[in-house]
Amino acid sequence: METDTTPYPGHEIWFFTGSQGLYGDDVLRQVAEQSRSISETLGRPGKVPVRIVWKPVLTDADAIRRICLEANASDTCVGVIVWMHTFSPAKMWIAGLSALDRPVLHLHTQYNLSLPWSSIDMDFMNLNQAAHGDREFAHIESRLGIDRKIVAGHATDPRVTRRIATWARATAGRHASRTLRLARFGDNMRDVAVTEGDKVEAQLRFGFSVNTYAVNDLVTVVDEIEDKAAAELASEYCELYDVVPALRPDGIRHDALLYAARQELGLRTFLTEGGFTAFTTNFEDLGGLRQLPGLAVQRLMADGYGFGGEGDWKTSALLRTMKVMGLGQPGGTTFMEDYTYHLGPGTPRVLGAHMLEVCPSVAADRPRCEIHPLSIGGREDPVRLVFDAAKGPAVVVGLSDLGDRFRLTANTVDVVGPKERLPRLPVARAVWQPHPSLAESAEGWLLAGAPHHTVLSSAVDVATLDDYAAMTGVELVTIDEHTTSDRLAKELRWNAAYHRLAQAL
Ligand code: MN
Repeated sequence: METDTTPYPGHEIWFFTGSQGLYGDDVLRQVAEQSRSISETLGRPGKVPVRIVWKPVLTDADAIRRICLEANASDTCVGVIVWMHTFSPAKMWIAGLSALDRPVLHLHTQYNLSLPWSSIDMDFMNLNQAAHGDREFAHIESRLGIDRKIVAGHATDPRVTRRIATWARATAGRHASRTLRLARFGDNMRDVAVTEGDKVEAQLRFGFSVNTYAVNDLVTVVDEIEDKAAAELASEYCELYDVVPALRPDGIRHDALLYAARQELGLRTFLTEGGFTAFTTNFEDLGGLRQLPGLAVQRLMADGYGFGGEGDWKTSALLRTMKVMGLGQPGGTTFMEDYTYHLGPGTPRVLGAHMLEVCPSVAADRPRCEIHPLSIGGREDPVRLVFDAAKGPAVVVGLSDLGDRFRLTANTVDVVGPKERLPRLPVARAVWQPHPSLAESAEGWLLAGAPHHTVLSSAVDVATLDDYAAMTGVELVTIDEHTTSDRLAKELRWNAAYHRLAQAL
């Protein structure tokens, strides 16, 4: 098998082509050749980022049902593209589609771009009839309530490949979230509402499992890390970052850097051995940890782990899911918190940061590695990376539990950087201007009851989140340059009605 050079090795999107036996072998051979060619066009480098696997043409109900069951059983199939090259009577699809448990993209296309006006005959018409074959198929999808994405156009049209690529990223996110195991070190911060939530419902809806471990189980692993390994990692830090003199090998606080390295190695070991791809910490529950993990968490996020501070497992799982959706894309994705505002003069902006834990994947420049006191937690001074986030368009996303369902809220923003240098701020930060304005964004965000912990990403766009929300059956409220406060208020009411009705009794 050829090497999978996509950002998603081991992931497949299966390409189904619908037809029927009526046409005879000669036509079905052409149907197979042409649909294979289309799937190859979509799979070319730089097009759809997940490997597309063409499947033999489907001509009867039993074959359709069996391939759908195979897709369900496959650990590699993350989604299915379906196209009716010819006419495939759709009652044949009822059993298969009813059983299918993979996101569906209905590609409405045809092999030829132009009509051969002067030579077109009934043979051509019979071979190229997706124009009505796909309508028959779409009818049964609607009748069955299949929540699919529909993309219409020729396979060489960049809009078509872009839309399929977006969906493919969302299927990879869905797969990541369904296979996600999250380790919480301690519970969430005492008395906080928004970091609470229904972990059973989260597993039913998103597929991820969330379980708590005693922080001292982690401490045991951290303390067992060999001095030599910690020293090697600390010297790696000195090459990768601008490490302040006090933390360097000849500095008076080098011991703190060694302990940060020990924490990273301990966390890595714990997460790897348990098969975890996301985790949380809580400064109120540090057990025998000498520092609140800062640098370690930042570096693990940069490697694709999900993280949430103060026991925030929802944001941690969302971060992991978005890390996967953004694989191979320019930009970065990080845990974030709306911290404080610049309301004027000039365009209002948000200063976002956290106590320590912002992912260096969003850094504009080489981070500095520093040590400063932390006023909460009551432990030794933690080591952290300090940087400004790179300027450019991004999205801020929050996941909240409304009691009867989950809601994703997304706000498009421009990361603009601080107005002046911030010489006394000892944490990594991002400064952004939310769309449509800080006031309207904040009014909408508050009205949606969306969280203060978020994921900030310049690698994942709203279109991908939209596809992810649709295939997960979760509400997505988007606040962007088109949002007005009064329409958003109405949308939230409509959504409440829809999502309560859409849930099974
Ligand atoms: Mn926080």
